[in-house]
Amino acid sequence: MSLKLKKLKVFAFLGIFIISAILVSGCTDETNSQDVENTHLGEVSDEDEHTENVTEHHWGYEGEAGPEHWAELGYPDCSGNEQSPIDIPVGTSLHSDDISFNYNLTALNIVNNGHSIKVEYDEGSSIEVENNTYQLLQLHFHYLSENTIMGEHSDMEMHLVHQSDDGEYAVVGVMMEPGSENSAYAPIWEHMPAEVGDVETISGVNVSAVELLPENRTYYRFDGSFTTPPCTEGVKWFLMGTPVELSTEQIDAFKVIYSNNYRPVQPLNDREFY
Ligand SMILES: [Zn+2]
Repeated sequence: MSLKLKKLKVFAFLGIFIISAILVSGCTDETNSQDVENTHLGEVSDEDEHTENVTEHHWGYEGEAGPEHWAELGYPDCSGNEQSPIDIPVGTSLHSDDISFNYNLTALNIVNNGHSIKVEYDEGSSIEVENNTYQLLQLHFHYLSENTIMGEHSDMEMHLVHQSDDGEYAVVGVMMEPGSENSAYAPIWEHMPAEVGDVETISGVNVSAVELLPENRTYYRFDGSFTTPPCTEGVKWFLMGTPVELSTEQIDAFKVIYSNNYRPVQPLNDREFY
């Protein structure tokens, strides 16, 4: 082999090595930011969250890391039959407002985890529904809404993520639309981190999740999944039929940080509404 060819091979090898290193570190940066997958939607239980050697893969909302590639990126559940979000079809009935919201104040534990703005809720708040109790773990936001109602997106959607003692997940979804300024959201909005980082507890600031809900709490009830990898199924969804209002300024303030963190609607397949 000529010296020239040898050099060329060495350079090619180095080049591939450097590019791989950059790709890997890029993903690591993202996933290191607060156990991204685990904490975004509370997809994984607290026990799992601290399991070592869990392989996390880079995912996002655009291009090669976008939703249509999540399954092949290492999250096979994302191609399951009961995925979220969904479109609520015309004619779907609302369920009566039978959820008991036993929410307390929480300190504002807030983070930009690379996929959304998330508030980690202090322990001790829960909902009671369908003869089960689900503890509130965290809440976070999507722009646009993920679920759609009769084909229409809302500007934003809030997800309140709960888990029962036996490990079942329940998500309460709240559509957010432009209207009056909403002072209940102000404590969160005033402290939304523009940059990805660690959870920060803002001293002296509290949030009341019950005030973030619409007054009318009738809901669409269906089964689905987490809307972010690993897209785990078996999640009970309670999507409020009535939106809350935020001012255009409030919605724009979120949009400055996340202007596209929604997964497109998934096939309904054989699912029914309760
Ligand atoms: Zn969500």
